[in-house]
Amino acid sequence: QPYGRVFNFSAGPAVLPVEVLEQAQADLLNWQGSGMSVMEMSHRGKEFQSIIDGAEADLRALLAIPDNYQGGASSQFSAIPLNLSAEGDTLDYIVTGSWSKKAAGEAKKYGKVNVVATGDNKSVPDPSSWKLSPDAKYVHYCDNETIQGVEFKAPPVVGDKVLVADMSSNFCSKPVDVSKYGLIYAGAQKNIGPAGVTIVIVRDDLIGNSRPSTPVMLDYKVQADDKSMYNTPPCWAIYMCGLVFAKMRRDGGLAAVQQANEKKAKVLYDAIAGSNGFYSSPVDAAARSMMNVPFTIPANAELEKEFVSQAAKRSMIQLKGHRSVGGMRASIYNSMPLDGVQQLANFMKEFAANSA
Ligand code: PLP
Repeated sequence: QPYGRVFNFSAGPAVLPVEVLEQAQADLLNWQGSGMSVMEMSHRGKEFQSIIDGAEADLRALLAIPDNYQGGASSQFSAIPLNLSAEGDTLDYIVTGSWSKKAAGEAKKYGKVNVVATGDNKSVPDPSSWKLSPDAKYVHYCDNETIQGVEFKAPPVVGDKVLVADMSSNFCSKPVDVSKYGLIYAGAQKNIGPAGVTIVIVRDDLIGNSRPSTPVMLDYKVQADDKSMYNTPPCWAIYMCGLVFAKMRRDGGLAAVQQANEKKAKVLYDAIAGSNGFYSSPVDAAARSMMNVPFTIPANAELEKEFVSQAAKRSMIQLKGHRSVGGMRASIYNSMPLDGVQQLANFMKEFAANSA
């Protein structure tokens, strides 16, 4: 790997393309002849304005975001009910893992949460069992559960209800039909940049109805009116996201990203399936994530620690599963090269053979 870099299978924050880091390094002291670092420029100045405008334009192009959708903001677990519902309203939540459970828990502070369905942490519950409420203000779900590795393969069908998606850990991993959603939100720190930026893509008819008690920073109207610059934004992080968006466009857009991601995920799931049961995927085939691949050594969990430590000696790091579920987890975000996944698959084979 260039610069002695490792294959980083971390679930986050931020694994970035080398090309982007090189560009950031080159720009660090003097951004495009401005004589300043991005960290040092005024966020009201024309230089930073061009960076944030460029990042937004590239993201809009990548996701083909219709013009009636806005961007910006953070802390969405509470911002969503505060902006999209009034006190006492019913709010529908589909729970498929740790993050959607957390989102539902937070929403309980603000409304009557109806849990539409609760998954078993290894599948998306059958839509025929969902109990959607007739009067819910929106239906919230998590498109990719980072910890469990459970991913929706298509948006849930919720009739004329406003669909709200947490896409934090699979944002920009594949094309998305934004028009199916009322709101999409995502932390940047998986596929698109450093921690500190949260993307919110919200349809404009959902803006402007926040509760009076909504903190100003969480009010979509304030953020939209101020073009995501009500306060001092995380300038450097936005700039880095902009570099990543531009690179993705140069590289062929999200269809190309998806193709590469499918190939990588297949290598890994094939390695698990081809291990004669030495490794096991806890997730049903239909819901396996293309981004976060948990796996275990069912016959001998003691070997899992050894696996993680031997892999690290070969520059394949952060393969330990989330502390709440154990096992291993390979997060293979956009910037993980196919070569890294192939080397992991080879190591899995070798480790299994040596442990037999
Ligand atoms: N939702 C999902 C699916 C996540 O994976 C994460 C973080 O890993 C979050 C929400 C929370 O993001 P943050 O740590 O930026 O609050």
